Amino acid sequence: STLKDTDTHEIDEEIFPGLPPLHHGHPNVHLRNGVIKALELSAQGEPDAEKAFFVGDLSYIYQQHMRWRKNLPEVQPFYAIKCHPDPYVLRLLAALGAGFDCASNGEISQVLALGVDPSRVIFANPCKASSFIRQSAKAGVEMMTFDNTDELYKVARIYPGAKLVIRILTDDSKSLCRLGLKFGAPLVTVPALLCKARELNLDVIGVSFHVGSGCYDATAFSDAVMRARATFDMGKDAGYDFQLLDVGGGFEDDTFETTASVLRNAIEQYFPERENLRIIAEPGRYYVAKAFSLAANIIARRAPPQADSGSQDVDMDPEQPSVMYYINDGVYGAFNCILFDHQSPQPYVLSLNGSFHVPSSVPLRASSVWGPTCDSMDCVCPITQLPSTLEVGDWLGFDNMGAYTACAASQFNGFEVSNAIYTTGGGHLSAEVRKVLKAFAAAA
Ligand code: PLP
Repeated sequence: STLKDTDTHEIDEEIFPGLPPLHHGHPNVHLRNGVIKALELSAQGEPDAEKAFFVGDLSYIYQQHMRWRKNLPEVQPFYAIKCHPDPYVLRLLAALGAGFDCASNGEISQVLALGVDPSRVIFANPCKASSFIRQSAKAGVEMMTFDNTDELYKVARIYPGAKLVIRILTDDSKSLCRLGLKFGAPLVTVPALLCKARELNLDVIGVSFHVGSGCYDATAFSDAVMRARATFDMGKDAGYDFQLLDVGGGFEDDTFETTASVLRNAIEQYFPERENLRIIAEPGRYYVAKAFSLAANIIARRAPPQADSGSQDVDMDPEQPSVMYYINDGVYGAFNCILFDHQSPQPYVLSLNGSFHVPSSVPLRASSVWGPTCDSMDCVCPITQLPSTLEVGDWLGFDNMGAYTACAASQFNGFEVSNAIYTTGGGHLSAEVRKVLKAFAAAA
């Protein structure tokens, strides 16, 4: 049987010249169509024909934004662009009115180039190069975080008009990626820091924290809001009247409603009078993790070195992989999330023996999946069950590949970073997403 796809996959007229076209339709359709296209190119002898590719579903990001508004109407999201500085993600979120959390000059320039007002940007890196602070002053990005005295001296010298936000240390022990090892002022140091800021005539406008990226324990947020309350009180003692609370990132798709509810209650408990309080957050992975999938081609297959026979059908310990698959993206590319973001992406079969039909009768066998580079660290999945007939030329899919993937991918060994195919989704939201993007493009 051959790969066939009958679903529609129309392409929009160019909304943003210079960017890849926007498709309609469910992301799974585009995973399949991408595979078909790759095979066509391969038949034509195109170099890189079977290149791995992402499919990004912009309607998912739109939905996440609506979900945010519903659950945290008082909290303005400032998307942490480090998570995935994708041109369409940024344009869509800009169009929806989100703010942006930037960590560097490069990120600030990327956001401002879209026409976003500098007041919608927070420079949320407590340890900045002097030249970056200078550039921020030039660009008019006023809000920036700090957690140490040296940063205060730098800001006083370079950008005395900055609106500073003190980043406090909170409990991040329950999070996937702990950030407190590197950033955040312990509460005991806060009075002296604020005293120094006062002495230097600096404007501290509020408090920020980050409970750690990938936070599955909602109580970390309530504990952090309690600490922020204490910091507001210390601010008063130092002669400040803080008006900004930045609750950071760490929000997870799966636990969002619970986290939002705990956060709302904590805000109510610790900031019952908040007419003059602006509350913002810096969500990253919440918006993009599930919006992108990756399709990768099986470029090679071999038996593990420890197998005592060269045959792929060798009977081995079912607990041990009996076959190794090599795909054309790995930990030096999109799968860097395994090393840097503690993820364990799981493959599923996109195509089997040249067909999209994967019969349930095909037996599974323990397999391992590897990236394309010459490094043995480049292992995508040390053990998983895959159909015994899976072969070179077939395709694997990986979901939840939107957060901290492409942004940190390298070109080690000369492998290019995988491109993306974009869709505005398959349901009724597609038209809405395109309307929002078109209006943004027209206003730009
Ligand atoms: N804000 C800051 C300062 C960060 O360092 C990060 C992630 O490292 C984020 C926001 C985004 O975190 P998440 O993707 O977990 O929401």
